[in-house]
Amino acid sequence: MFILSEDTQRTQGSDAQSSNISAGKAVAEAVRTTLGPRGMDKMLVDSTGDVVITNDGATILTEMDIEHPAAQMLVEVAETQEDAVGDGTTTAAVLAGHLLARAEDMLENDVHPTTIVEGYHEAAAIALDAIDDAVLDVAVDDETLGQVAESSMTGKGTGGLTADQLAQTVVSAIRHVETEAGVVNRDDVRIFTKVGASSNATELVEGIVIDEEPVHDEMPRHVTDADILVLDMELDVRTADVSAEYRIDSVEQLTAAMDAEEEELRGYAKTLADADVDVVFATDDIDGRVAAMLADEGILAFDGLSDSDARAIATATGARRAGALDDLEDDDFGFAEHVDVRRVGDEELTFVEGGAAAEAVTVFVRGGTEHVVDELERALEDALDVVTVAVESGEVVPGAGATEIAIADAVRDAASGIEGRKQLAVEAFADAVDVIPRTLAENTGMDPIDVLVSLRSRYEDGETVGVISEGETGTVDDPLTYGVVDPADVKREAVESATEAATMILRIDDIIAAD
Ligand code: ADP
Ligand code: MG
Repeated sequence: MFILSEDTQRTQGSDAQSSNISAGKAVAEAVRTTLGPRGMDKMLVDSTGDVVITNDGATILTEMDIEHPAAQMLVEVAETQEDAVGDGTTTAAVLAGHLLARAEDMLENDVHPTTIVEGYHEAAAIALDAIDDAVLDVAVDDETLGQVAESSMTGKGTGGLTADQLAQTVVSAIRHVETEAGVVNRDDVRIFTKVGASSNATELVEGIVIDEEPVHDEMPRHVTDADILVLDMELDVRTADVSAEYRIDSVEQLTAAMDAEEEELRGYAKTLADADVDVVFATDDIDGRVAAMLADEGILAFDGLSDSDARAIATATGARRAGALDDLEDDDFGFAEHVDVRRVGDEELTFVEGGAAAEAVTVFVRGGTEHVVDELERALEDALDVVTVAVESGEVVPGAGATEIAIADAVRDAASGIEGRKQLAVEAFADAVDVIPRTLAENTGMDPIDVLVSLRSRYEDGETVGVISEGETGTVDDPLTYGVVDPADVKREAVESATEAATMILRIDDIIAAD
C-alpha cells in the first residue's frame, strides 16, 4: 500500500543511518584540518564569486552550502556553540562527527542505536565531571584572560599583529565594559573595520566609531560637551502636502507652496536650536536645506545612520531615540564629552567619546586588505566572547588537548564499571574525544599515534600535557607553561552540543523527503 506521494524519497533502516552518518562524518572531515594553531584556512567562493578566507569553524560551515539534513544538524552544532560561547566550533563539529564514526562501527557489530545513545549520554555526564575536575586553581586575572584570548586567536590570520598585542586589546576592551558586579556588557564592545592601514594600527577607541560624515560641509567638526539627539524621523517636507493634494494653477500658488515648505523646514531647525542640541544623529534623511539651516545654527548633524549605529550611540550617551520633534524633553537627550569628525586615510569617520551612560568601546581594526580585516574581525569576535565567558564564570581549563586527554581517561575509567554493550558505547565516546589531541598533533605535523601514547602515559603519571605547537614543530608538554588555556564553558558546551547532535542523528531510522 502506498501512503506517500510518488515523488517522495524514502530511505529506511540501516541505509538511513549510514547515509546520515556519512554526511555527518563528511562535515567533520571538512573542518578538521583547520583545528588548532597550525590549522589551515579554507577559501570559500560563493555563487556570485565572493571569496571568504577563514579558519573559523562556524563561518566555514555556515558559508558552505550544505544540503544533507543530517549534515545540516552538524552545522547547527557549530552555530549553537558559536551563539552560546563564541568559540570551540571546530572542536564541537569534529567531536560530533567522530561520535558518529564510532557509532557506525558499533552498528555494524549489531549494537542497538538506543544502547549507543544511552552510553553516549552517560559518557557525556562523566565528561562534564572531568571538566569540573580540570578547572584550574588560578585567579582569572588580566594575565589569564590574555592567555585565554591568545589561545582562541592563534592559528587565525591576524595580519602582522602578534596575538599578544591583540590579546591585550581584547582584555582591556572587556574590562572597560565590565560592571562592578562582574557582569560583562558584551554588546558595548563594537568592532569597526577599515581597510587601508597596516593591521598594526589596530587600536582600542574608548567610545563609538561610525562610518559617517556631517550632512553639511560648514558644520563644526569637533564638539565638546555635546548634547545629543538620536532621531528616527525624516527632516524633510512631508511630500503629501504639496503635489498630491493641491493643484497648483498659478505662480502665486507655487510660491506660497514653496514658502510653506521652507517654513516647515525652518521649523525643524528652530526646534533643534531652541532645544540646545549640539549633535543630531538621524537614521532617516535630512533635507539639504535643513542641513544648511542646522549648519547656520552651529549644529552638527548626520543622517542615514544604520539602526545598530543609532542604538550604540543611544546606549552610550543615554539618549532616548526620538520619533518626533514635538515635545522633546531633557531625558530625550544624551551626552558625550567629544564628538569628532576625523579624516582617516581618505575617509571621514566620526568618533563619539566619553558617553555619559555606558562605557562603550570600539576595537578599531585596520588591515591591508578586506580579507585581512574580515578574518581579524572574526578572530576578535571569538576572543571577545571567550574572555567574556572566562570573566563571568571565572573558570579556565588547560588547552592544547590536555583537557580532552583528561576527559577520555575519566570516561575510559568509568566504562569498566558499566554493564553490557553500553560499555562499548562509553568506550567509544572516549575514543571519539581523543580526536581533538590527535588532530592537533596531525595538524602540527606530528605522528598522531606516538603523540597519543605519550600524552596518555604522561597523564597517568600525573602530568598535565597537551600538544604544543611552537614555531615549526610541536612537542608534548604542559600547556600552562605556554599559557594555552580555554574557558571551561567552551569545553562543556562542545561536549553537550556534540553529544546532542550525534545522538539525535543516531535515533533516526527513516528519512522521508518530499520532492
Ligand atoms: P575551535 O573552533 O574549536 O576553537 P581552533 O582552531 O580555535 O578551533 O582550535 C582550538 C584548539 O586549539 C583548542 O583546543 C586550544 O586549546 C588549542 N590551542 C590554542 N592555542 C594553542 C597552542 N599554542 N598550542 C596548542 N594548542 C593550542
Ligand atoms: Mg577557536
